[in-house]
Amino acid sequence: MSAVAQMSPTPPAGTLAPPMSASPLDAETLVSQTGAIVDQELKPLTARVDREGLYPEAVLRSLGYAGVYRAHLANARTDGEVDFPAAIRAMATVSQECLSTGFAVWCQDTCAWYLEIGNPKARELWLESLASGTVLGGTGMSNTMKAFAGIEDLRLSGERVEGGYVVNGSLPWVSNLGEGHVFGSLFTLSGDTRQTVMALVDCRSPGFSLRQSAHFVALEGTRTYACIFDNVFIPDEHIIDDNGAGFLERARAGLVMLQFGMGAGNIQGCINVCRSAEPMLGHINQFLDDRPDELQEELDDIVDAVLTLAETPCEASPDFFREVLELRLAAGELALRASQSAMLHTGAKGYLSSAPAQRKLRESYFVAIVTPATKHLRKELARMHEMDV
Ligand SMILES: Cc1cc2nc3c(=O)[nH]c(=O)nc-3n(C[C@H](O)[C@H](O)[C@H](O)COP(=O)(O)OP(=O)(O)OC[C@H]3O[C@@H](n4cnc5c(N)ncnc54)[C@H](O)[C@@H]3O)c2cc1C
Repeated sequence: MSAVAQMSPTPPAGTLAPPMSASPLDAETLVSQTGAIVDQELKPLTARVDREGLYPEAVLRSLGYAGVYRAHLANARTDGEVDFPAAIRAMATVSQECLSTGFAVWCQDTCAWYLEIGNPKARELWLESLASGTVLGGTGMSNTMKAFAGIEDLRLSGERVEGGYVVNGSLPWVSNLGEGHVFGSLFTLSGDTRQTVMALVDCRSPGFSLRQSAHFVALEGTRTYACIFDNVFIPDEHIIDDNGAGFLERARAGLVMLQFGMGAGNIQGCINVCRSAEPMLGHINQFLDDRPDELQEELDDIVDAVLTLAETPCEASPDFFREVLELRLAAGELALRASQSAMLHTGAKGYLSSAPAQRKLRESYFVAIVTPATKHLRKELARMHEMDV
């Protein structure tokens, strides 16, 4: 077992989280614990995350300690159950306050999800560390998903050597990374999508480097780097699946469904901003479109549908995935409308540099552009429609 996997987590300083155990909290307790961490640890930092690009590492550790990254992982729970809806709701609670931190939670949840459904050896080495938040991690799968959708070429290529693979190439943006972090990604052996391998990359590997090649609005606090692979050796025990295409087919519905945590949280935050303007501006805001009650109704419908689908995250049928993509598209579109509405309902005050409305507006575009982006979703749904899926 790796030294990382053996590390025994200690409670983050000042944390509110309860004593950690692999025993899962029931969904309501998990969501309410998450809310307490958000109120007391994240809220005081949100403006700095947004304006200074602060990476809220202590908050992410507290969330891990509370069990947030464990809800959807049967292999990291003593009851062997999977509660995807609880994972989505907890992420929404974080994203409602700060989408940047909510995205970091998605990165962590998704990296752990890859291990959950991958090779037992890699899972045994890393799953518990990720589920507990002792090790923080991400996912470099945007290029993969776009390559499999025929949008761009795969950027990482590997070669089989004794005991593993040597990988070269680069990924322009991978988040929630740093020294000692890990992330899941896929490389090609054939130069295209025919022969691919899914692996866990350790940022400490010789030949691997993180490059800060850009600064971002709204998401600067997510530690997003370009990842450069210069003859990086990936040992066999870090291979999540040596059939990358098959793996993506198993992972994709769960990966996309978890993103609803970001979308639902952002939309709810926008609705709350609209509502907070009502006492003073309701008499005139009544003439606006996308009033908070209308948005709430649409959000509730999406959330109900998603939480139902999330009961069976391993369902791999094309029909199921099409439904997930349709809802994902709807969530991205609703996020844009809700954030525009938050701006219009708030008026001039929404333009203050400290105003949640303008922050949520910038955050909401990320829901619509993170892979699968709106244009990617429309392309994929059009293809499915043509094939009559
Ligand atoms: C803040 C932030 C965090 C992100 N975090 C992750 C992550 O954790 N994991 C992940 O897989 N993806 C991540 N992405 C990428 C994201 O998921 C989308 O792929 C990206 O926003 C573009 O998607 P798109 O479909 O709109 O592509 P488009 O914008 O239409 O096309 C973008 C493509 O152009 C090329 N390109 C553009 N700029 C550059 C550049 N500077 N260097 C190299 N190539 C470039 C790349 O091929 C890229 O895929 C992140 C993006 C942002 C902005």
